[in-house]
Amino acid sequence: MASDERVYLSIGSNIHPRVANIKQAILMLSQLAAVNVIAQSTWYETEPWGKRDQANFYNVSVALTTTLTPHALLTELHAIEHLGHRERKVHWGPRTIDLDIIFWGARQIQTAELTVPHLHAAERNFVLRPTAEIAKNDPQVGPQVQAMIDANTDQSWIKKVGNVSE
Ligand code: ADP
Ligand code: MG
Repeated sequence: MASDERVYLSIGSNIHPRVANIKQAILMLSQLAAVNVIAQSTWYETEPWGKRDQANFYNVSVALTTTLTPHALLTELHAIEHLGHRERKVHWGPRTIDLDIIFWGARQIQTAELTVPHLHAAERNFVLRPTAEIAKNDPQVGPQVQAMIDANTDQSWIKKVGNVSE
């Protein structure tokens, strides 16, 4: 794999303690021998998307490089979600932690388990804004994010959080 191929994740939580849940997930990611976390966006508080009658989310995006295959990384993300006590009860419902692969360089991946770019990336402010922050200078991903932002009609609010706490 080209070492300059960057992978972007969107990480979110809407169950207390949101910040600690996300920080713990990023710590676990950075402790994977095959993963090198290279950038993190600022923190955002965001309106629940899709299923709106639930608590607000905190979201960040993270950029990394890895020697893992996409499916192997997805398995690691599921393990981190599992350790974060993620339960899948309600589609798009409340979650302690959610880790989604948004972009993998210029790759297009479509399998039963994995769609990259993420199927809903183009219609989610909470994915596009934080990812744009850290992908600006990435020649493979920067233009993809910008094109999605230009076409995006998502009206949901998202605001930067200066001092992260609960
Ligand atoms: P969501 O994030 O849409 O709320 P889940 O986190 O429960 O839903 O993920 C459901 C499934 O989505 C995962 O088991 C995974 O196989 C699949 N999936 C497809 N594409 C992706 C992607 N790009 N990143 C993460 N999961 C994905
Ligand atoms: Mg997910």
